[in-house]
Amino acid sequence: MKDRKLLMIPGPIEFTPEVLRAMGMPTTSHVAPNFIEVFGQALERLRQVFLSSSGQPFIVAGSGTLAMDIAAANLVEPGDKALVVDTGYFSERFTAILERYGATVTPVRAPVVGDAPSLEDVEAELKKDGYKLMTVTHVDTSTAVRADVKALTALGRKYGALVVVDGVCAVAGEEMRQDEWGIDLALTASQKAIGTPPGLALVVAGPRAMEAFRKRKTPVGNYYADWTNWLPIMEAYEARRPSYFGTPAVNLIWALNVSLGQILEEGMEARFARHRKLNEAFKAAIRALGLKQVPVSSDREATTLTAPYYPDGVDSTVLKRINEAGVILAGGLHPAIKDRYFRVGHMGAVSASDILTTVGAIEKGLAQAGYKFEPGAGLAAAQAILTG
Ligand code: PMP
Repeated sequence: MKDRKLLMIPGPIEFTPEVLRAMGMPTTSHVAPNFIEVFGQALERLRQVFLSSSGQPFIVAGSGTLAMDIAAANLVEPGDKALVVDTGYFSERFTAILERYGATVTPVRAPVVGDAPSLEDVEAELKKDGYKLMTVTHVDTSTAVRADVKALTALGRKYGALVVVDGVCAVAGEEMRQDEWGIDLALTASQKAIGTPPGLALVVAGPRAMEAFRKRKTPVGNYYADWTNWLPIMEAYEARRPSYFGTPAVNLIWALNVSLGQILEEGMEARFARHRKLNEAFKAAIRALGLKQVPVSSDREATTLTAPYYPDGVDSTVLKRINEAGVILAGGLHPAIKDRYFRVGHMGAVSASDILTTVGAIEKGLAQAGYKFEPGAGLAAAQAILTG
């Protein structure tokens, strides 16, 4: 019997065999002609996945937090004002990072956990002060709340703020159109919907962000993150020339290029549609099982992730039972409700059969935990959408 479990957490996700094979290839020199071609292609493909023909891509070894650090370090100067659209744990991390570089940060918070601040509240704050920068967490992985990036970006731009989108749990899963929506900088990490093992920070900076960087009066307060070091490297590899600042993560970049190729082969529109359908099926199952979710309303729900509350009488020990039934899920993360909910990631290469397997394992775990429901109700609800 197979003993491999299905990994359905909000990153790292399950990777395709082709991506994993690239990880295991003999490592080449970072200036070998075949690697230069791969790095150059990965930069070009990153632009296409972010739907940004005008952006400058950066691929740097590190996790998503480094991508946030890169954005803040290069765009913020001491004394700048920043507005953080605060939807939870990862928005608060952005506040801490921005403050570290000397920004004065104003968070605009949601009234309750599971909600996002209203457009009116964000606009009222933008009006008050001259904000240089505004950050939005596309999907807050702690709550599965999705922010309305399109509308928020339009607002930020209206008041002259640079709009930075933390798309770590979103890019290549949630619909995001960097150029069309006017996003100045979007960032993600390799291990989520981009579909490559953890270890790469991915940033696409638009023309206004690059201009703000060029016009800095003070040096970037972080040596490793400084675009002064990385921009020539990215430009060189894209022009298919070798260059060196810090040794690139050769195998990860190779794997990233394979994954980006797979994403573009599927096509961005088809990919957004697949994520929407699988999400709809999974959420229908969760509702059919009588489980409530952390997001307060359906228009706040992410596409890449679901955060259901445990039903009455069930606690986090059910995750162990679900694991024994073959599926690995994540516990709660938001400190205020940590022990009351769990999280299921469904992004990247996820398939309809992964959704059904996950629902089946959740049903098994809930039944063993003594929760009363009609067996198969979740599976039937998911299947109705998947076959519809
Ligand atoms: N932002 C969001 C929205 C995230 O979900 C995460 C990771 N879960 C991060 C930032 C930080 O990324 P990393 O863990 O790769 O540093």
